[in-house]
Amino acid sequence: MEAMVAVNRERWREELLECVDPEWKKNPENVKWAITVGEGWKKLVCDLVDKLDKIQPYTILQVKEKFGTLRFYTHTPKKPSKKFIDTIEAAYKASEKICEDCGGKGKLRGDGWVRTLCIPCNKAFLKKRAERFAKHTRKAKQKPD
Ligand SMILES: [Zn+2]
Repeated sequence: MEAMVAVNRERWREELLECVDPEWKKNPENVKWAITVGEGWKKLVCDLVDKLDKIQPYTILQVKEKFGTLRFYTHTPKKPSKKFIDTIEAAYKASEKICEDCGGKGKLRGDGWVRTLCIPCNKAFLKKRAERFAKHTRKAKQKPD
């Protein structure tokens, strides 16, 4: 039996992108959307991949945040087993309590755009978002007097 190699924590994004598209390096812009979760979920995602690797073959399609929690989309050549599905579901559930930005203790925050963050990361996120909105707000054109 082949020895299972755990995901390299230093280059986890690259490793996951290689799974999404083995030739992603030719066109990195094309796969920018594929792995978009924050560094805080690195351990969660890598642990999940390590567990799934022991269950059945699969391809990663996309790893992202939706409604504040982890989404891990895969394609499996064979029907996914209950264990495979349950393992992914457990990671979704765990993501509700891990700050997506720093990996600290987080919870679902925000309205409209919900994210799982700790208090300091949430403050930083809101500040950054407010700055970005301020830049992009369209000003109503006023007629000269
Ligand atoms: Zn945080």
